[in-house]
Amino acid sequence: MKYISTRGKCLAQNFEEVLLTGLAPDGGLYIPESIPQVSAEQLEQWKSLPYADLAYEIIKLYVADCMPGGDLKRIINETYAVFSHDEVAPVRRLQDGEYVLELFHGPTLAFKDFALQLLGRLLDYFLERRKKNVAILGATSGDTGSAALEGCRHCEYVDMYILYPHNRVSEVQRRQMTTVSGINVNSLALEGNFDDCQNIVKRAFADQSFLPEDYQLVAVNSINFCRIMAQIVYYFYAGLKFLGDASAVSFSVPTGNFGDIYAGYLAKKMGLPVDRLVIATNKNDILHRFISSNQYNLGPLEPSLSPSMDIMVSSNFERFLFDLFKGDTDRVESFVTSLSNNAQQVSETEWNRAKRVFDSCRVDDDTTCATIREVYDDFGYVLDPHTATGIKAGRECKGESESPMICLATAHPAKFSEAIERAGLHTPPLPAHLADLMSREERMTILPASLEAVTGFIQETL
Ligand SMILES: *Cc1c(COP(=O)(O)O)cnc(C)c1O
Repeated sequence: MKYISTRGKCLAQNFEEVLLTGLAPDGGLYIPESIPQVSAEQLEQWKSLPYADLAYEIIKLYVADCMPGGDLKRIINETYAVFSHDEVAPVRRLQDGEYVLELFHGPTLAFKDFALQLLGRLLDYFLERRKKNVAILGATSGDTGSAALEGCRHCEYVDMYILYPHNRVSEVQRRQMTTVSGINVNSLALEGNFDDCQNIVKRAFADQSFLPEDYQLVAVNSINFCRIMAQIVYYFYAGLKFLGDASAVSFSVPTGNFGDIYAGYLAKKMGLPVDRLVIATNKNDILHRFISSNQYNLGPLEPSLSPSMDIMVSSNFERFLFDLFKGDTDRVESFVTSLSNNAQQVSETEWNRAKRVFDSCRVDDDTTCATIREVYDDFGYVLDPHTATGIKAGRECKGESESPMICLATAHPAKFSEAIERAGLHTPPLPAHLADLMSREERMTILPASLEAVTGFIQETL
């Protein structure tokens, strides 16, 4: 399998190269040159597979030319064995036609574990083969940081630097980053906001001359195709449970950077019978504005009760635009690089094509809390605020469709007590493996929000 850039100005690469770089050198995102197709017969066979076996069948289609199947199988088995639920990604029924896909049984209680637990192990595998060291540098406003640290803390060839805004993440999120053990992990609290962290990361990637010779930076946010690939699996896992009973299923996905829902889009392209993909946004609603009114422009960044979806630009949308513009890479590039406050549009035909696949709904904080309350009162089930936006959006967009609506539960409610308490409920306890989180010793470094402070720290500690 070869991967090409959405901007069309660099060479095709294999999975190993794509994993080790993240962003393509022309500034675009890597996408598979062709999408593997799954037959109805294969779907039928996959229906009965346990999660890790299904993951192997799907992931092998994307990486087979880079590693022997036996190695891949071992790595995937190890990855999903650390999840605390036997089913890894269980589907819970709320009521007829409405289901929750629980993606929070990993070590850090958010869906990002599905990809980052695998990414850490694959990185180590390829780096061991090359006898090469890399440094992971990433900015986080919350969940990515802890999932990346947890996924890569055992990696022998990796040093990790995760930047987050000092005093601006929740206590549970901070403690999840500052209490990870491992000699190669560094949680850096910057005296600035999330945008400062992200800008420093971008500038460090653009000029890596501060690193020792032979070193390189690796990106672990969802621009890295490895993350998308791992997430395709749970769409199949959940969707296949309904195979035979329903002609198709729909998914409602709490969306920020468009990584998770893009994985659902790929599952559909591979041949999973998917009816609608619902983009749930909070008040940071750039994607909802596009789907509902064909306006694509920047809005203000507003903090919300679902912080992991607080985003001005959804980077992975570029991957979908590549399809929408039928592979016209010049148009993709000009569309994404001219994003500003002024609205851009796509043609009426293109907009209609996008709307045949995606639906969208914007859910504000009050409605998020009301949904948490309502679902608790009706079913005794506590939603985290991200998941609540997905439930609400799924209900708004279901319409006359007969397809079961599967809502992705992207985080465990114990991580986001503010919203739960505003809904008038008690925050559920942290699961057993994190029960002592609040008393664990924290390890962090506070730095000024400057590129020099961060690169200096990396130089001293590599
Ligand atoms: C990261 C995250 C999201 C958004 O996912 P994207 O892939 O960025 O769209 C939603 N919910 C939670 C809990 C997250 O951590």
